[in-house]
Amino acid sequence: MTDNSRSQARILVVDDEPINLKLLDKLLRSEGYTELELVDSPAQVLPAYQRQRPDLILLDLNMPGMNGFEVLNQLQALNDPLMPPTIIVTAQSSHRFLLQALQAGARDFVTKPFDRHELLLRVRNSLDAHLSHVLLHDTQHQLAQQVELRGAALQRAESATKVKSKFLSNMSHELRTPMNAILGMLQLLQTTALNPSQTDYVQKTQQAAKSLLGILNDILDFSKIEAGKMQLDPEPFEFEQLLQELSFILFSNLGGKRLELLFDIDVDMPRVVVADALRLKQVLINLGSNALKFTAQGEVQLTVRVQRREAERVWVYFALRDSGIGIAPEQQARIFEGFSQAEASTSRRFGGTGLGLAISRRLVQLMGGDLQLHSVPGQGSTFYFEIPLGLSAPMAAEPQGLADWPDALQDWHLLVIEPHTAARALLLDLAATLHWPAQACTDPAQARELLEQAHAAGQPFQAVWFDIEALPADQALQQLQQLRQPLPDGSAAPHIFLLARPGVDLSWSAMLKADATASAASESWLFKPITFSSVKTSMQRWLRHGSTQASAATAPELAGAPPSHCPGLAGVRILLVEDNPINQDVAMQLLQREGALVTLAENGLEAVQRLSTPQLDFDLVLMDMQMHVMDGLQATRLIREQLKLLDLPIVAMTANAMASDRDACLAVGMNDHVGKPFDIVQLVAVMQRILGCAPAGGTAAASASAPVDLSSAVAQVTATVVLDAETAVKRLGGDRLFYIKILQRFVALLEQELHQAQHHWEAAEGKLAERLLHTLKGNAGAVGAHLLSQALAAAEKTARALAPGMLLPPYPVELYRLAQAVQQASDDLHRLWALPLPSMAPAPAAAPVAEGQALSPQVRQSLEHLIPLLAAQDMEALDRFDELMAHHDTLPATAQVQALQAAMDGMDFLAAHDLAVALLAQP
Ligand code: ADP
Repeated sequence: MTDNSRSQARILVVDDEPINLKLLDKLLRSEGYTELELVDSPAQVLPAYQRQRPDLILLDLNMPGMNGFEVLNQLQALNDPLMPPTIIVTAQSSHRFLLQALQAGARDFVTKPFDRHELLLRVRNSLDAHLSHVLLHDTQHQLAQQVELRGAALQRAESATKVKSKFLSNMSHELRTPMNAILGMLQLLQTTALNPSQTDYVQKTQQAAKSLLGILNDILDFSKIEAGKMQLDPEPFEFEQLLQELSFILFSNLGGKRLELLFDIDVDMPRVVVADALRLKQVLINLGSNALKFTAQGEVQLTVRVQRREAERVWVYFALRDSGIGIAPEQQARIFEGFSQAEASTSRRFGGTGLGLAISRRLVQLMGGDLQLHSVPGQGSTFYFEIPLGLSAPMAAEPQGLADWPDALQDWHLLVIEPHTAARALLLDLAATLHWPAQACTDPAQARELLEQAHAAGQPFQAVWFDIEALPADQALQQLQQLRQPLPDGSAAPHIFLLARPGVDLSWSAMLKADATASAASESWLFKPITFSSVKTSMQRWLRHGSTQASAATAPELAGAPPSHCPGLAGVRILLVEDNPINQDVAMQLLQREGALVTLAENGLEAVQRLSTPQLDFDLVLMDMQMHVMDGLQATRLIREQLKLLDLPIVAMTANAMASDRDACLAVGMNDHVGKPFDIVQLVAVMQRILGCAPAGGTAAASASAPVDLSSAVAQVTATVVLDAETAVKRLGGDRLFYIKILQRFVALLEQELHQAQHHWEAAEGKLAERLLHTLKGNAGAVGAHLLSQALAAAEKTARALAPGMLLPPYPVELYRLAQAVQQASDDLHRLWALPLPSMAPAPAAAPVAEGQALSPQVRQSLEHLIPLLAAQDMEALDRFDELMAHHDTLPATAQVQALQAAMDGMDFLAAHDLAVALLAQP
């Protein structure tokens, strides 16, 4: 305590003896205490205290009227938190008195006659303690006030932030709407006649508009997260699908950079997981795009590892590693904050908003993980996190694993030609996972030697993986020609898989076409990033088609090329009538990829105008229903009635296909309809059917005319993947002919029945759709088409819940694809087993026997045998029914018998059962 603050302290001196008061006054003043108040009666203490609180009280004990104890009691009753200390100054020296004084609240005491020094020291000590207490109390009070003020300020700031975030979110939403319109208009602009510099301006504007839209989307996400509005939407999804979409986007971001994009995916990763796929993809795209952006050479690798499995979820580690510029330690924490970049120069060199990582970190937190970073400047960065992913149905949660790995693909002796170190290591790891003995080398010349050595040593390679992107294309082709050469003893070189990113195959197809050295089925494509599943798909495709394909030189697409490269609508002239720019763009792109020549009409009226111009000829019209100016129905009516274009196929595109909509379409003369958003496979199939050309993909047609030289490997793959024929035949007592018969019967009606089910589905006739899907599921299971059967079971389950008025889920159009695969497998199998084609001719019509005629005992007996078989959905029912029909001369030609025949043809055993029972019940 300073002397100054002490000298300003107020001291109240209480004594009934004036002489004592004087003495104390003098003594205290001599020590520099100037603020003294002297009172000679105890009654004056309280008023003096209340006038101004003293810092110390010197109190006599024995006073007339009220003693010192009573004064102390009065003061204590005030409950003043800043109560000053009291020093008792008394002639009483008895110990009992002093104790009583301390008990009553006195701080200290001095006995009279007092020692001058002692008194001053005690005054000083008590004052110091009190003044410190007062100081502390004041500080505390000030602090409390500050905290209160800050709290209020924080609250204001927080609510301001919320308002700001809301504003940002509203604004970016509002901005996005016109942005979409701008993008749409730019697309439209590009469809008009433009000179080259106008085209250039439009493309640049479009580029700028797209990046602006990207920034708006980022701001929207960021503000949503900041406002606590971001919610995840977990749904089951196929993990492989996510990887495919991710690789597609990252490859398109790669541009011309010579970087390796590698995926190292755990073979134990479940096939289906439950999470917000969109947001997970957003995080991975963001990390992957950054990695590509900040890496000039080397590789970018995505690693996915299953860490541990629990009953209902699986913990998965994701890491994106690059060999790029890295991030300085002092920047590593900062870059996760919004709007910040590692260094000003980086952002200028590379562009960006600095929002991506902030959004990604928060999204990962929402998913239950933490986005972390390990980075060394100049060497690269790894962003990683671990999150739980839900497991849905136990079967879907099965890892892709090696369990269903086809026998034909066991123990392949593999040679890998890959100069890139990380890629080579990854490919060898993959081979090890597959238990394939593999060897690797860095260049094809070395590979040729290894091929010959292995062959000579009696351990020939069965396949070669050759990364053709590591060399300039002409050199790669030369090396490929070398690798293809027969081995010294004349035997064929192993099959070569060409490793490249999707799209490279297109630029190679012309080269391969012109290459005279290409031999039949010498190569297949294996598309990067190479994963367990892509290897499986490519190998299976090769096993199924590779050996029967025409040579690489004659086929523009090698086995293994994605279906989008096998145009299913090549040269078909389509008039697309659609007024929504986004839908226009989507439809145009998809159709053009299938090889169609698409002309756009903005609305029904424009379509009618175009079709009335004789020099414009179209094969088919794809017509939206609801459009401004003129809708699809009116346009079709005009096309049919006024333009008299009766044969021109018109397919309606209907968003929420209600039965009434469809009927209206057909009533005005449309040929068919497809749902929107449409599935290109289904759309192509519909168009091909209407145009009367080959089925989609052309594979069925191709293999039908191919020589019958299917290897046993094909049978194996066919058997295990699409159609488990062997097991099904075993169940039928080993009768292959019978099996083929029921298979063909099943396949013949499959597509039609799927359409029928779709019809019910889209009309919200849940019960009918469920029934049909249920029957198909049973039949698919019976013929061993397990994949299809599983998909049908899932569809059946969904169909059960369909009800009128609900927002209908889209019909699972992948059923058509699976059906096609079964059809293909059935054809292969038939040729493989070299069986005569069973007669698909309709069963003989019922004989013209009079209606109402009684059933013969023979027919009754057959029906009695048939009914339990039908109830058990036993395939034998088909044979029994054929036997029954052999007695057709005694079977009445009633509608009921015809219905029974139809049900048997469709293998709808349950319907057939009811009909047979009803038939038998007749007299
Ligand atoms: P943006 O890329 O839009 O600037 P991000 O939030 O995604 O925003 O990234 C912030 C900053 O972090 C980048 O500007 C860059 O400086 C740094 N950064 C992110 N990823 C990498 C990476 N893989 N390598 C080096 N620097 C990176």
